[in-house]
Amino acid sequence: MNPCYVFAESTDPAPQSALDNSFIGGRPRLPKGEPIPRCGLCDAEQSFFFQVAMPADNPWSGLSLAVFACTSCKDYDYIVPQWLDESVRAAGIPLGFLDAYQVNFRFLVFASAEAIVCDRYTEKVRFKRLQLVPARESDWGKDKLGGVPDWIQHDESPGTYGPDVPMFFLMQLCEGRTFELVPSAPGQIDLDRSGTPYQSTDSFYNLFLGTPIYLFGTCSREHPRVYAIAQMD
Ligand SMILES: [Zn+2]
Repeated sequence: MNPCYVFAESTDPAPQSALDNSFIGGRPRLPKGEPIPRCGLCDAEQSFFFQVAMPADNPWSGLSLAVFACTSCKDYDYIVPQWLDESVRAAGIPLGFLDAYQVNFRFLVFASAEAIVCDRYTEKVRFKRLQLVPARESDWGKDKLGGVPDWIQHDESPGTYGPDVPMFFLMQLCEGRTFELVPSAPGQIDLDRSGTPYQSTDSFYNLFLGTPIYLFGTCSREHPRVYAIAQMD
């Protein structure tokens, strides 16, 4: 069972509270003592993008996923998560891969009930409360949790993690999803046409390249891991 919900940004103007557990930006809500991930390329503290507390009818019910990525450097070799050829995927994603590939981004999965707002993090992406709205058949091509992926290219669903841990479709973010910044946030480091890094003056961050992103989770509550696929036109 993996019912589908679309993400709706709440218009509620109330500031972030200790009770919020699904939201974009603001300060992450993490297990006590969990450090903010650092970038494996430049060692900067990664930026917090969003987090979602899984609903009761999700395979990861009771768990939350928080997504971080470095916005302080950009390396052409790490511009999107490392992908696997179909032949490798079919045999099972090699054990360890889903830890090792998180070089300049991080998927933290933890018990929702044990998380608290991380006071030591300075907000970069503007806080927006997320509501999970049960989806309809017609909700194709929206940012969503569960259901089935709306691939823009061929189906890249993974088989298993290692030889025997099944994976399920966790969520997708569609093309054009951006993350609005607060005025004090530093611009994202980007690459110009010659591949030289520069600081963007855009008032938002992109996650990876801003292309559609599909996330799959392991059917393991003890060792939850995320496989991310960025598809490009
Ligand atoms: Zn970095």
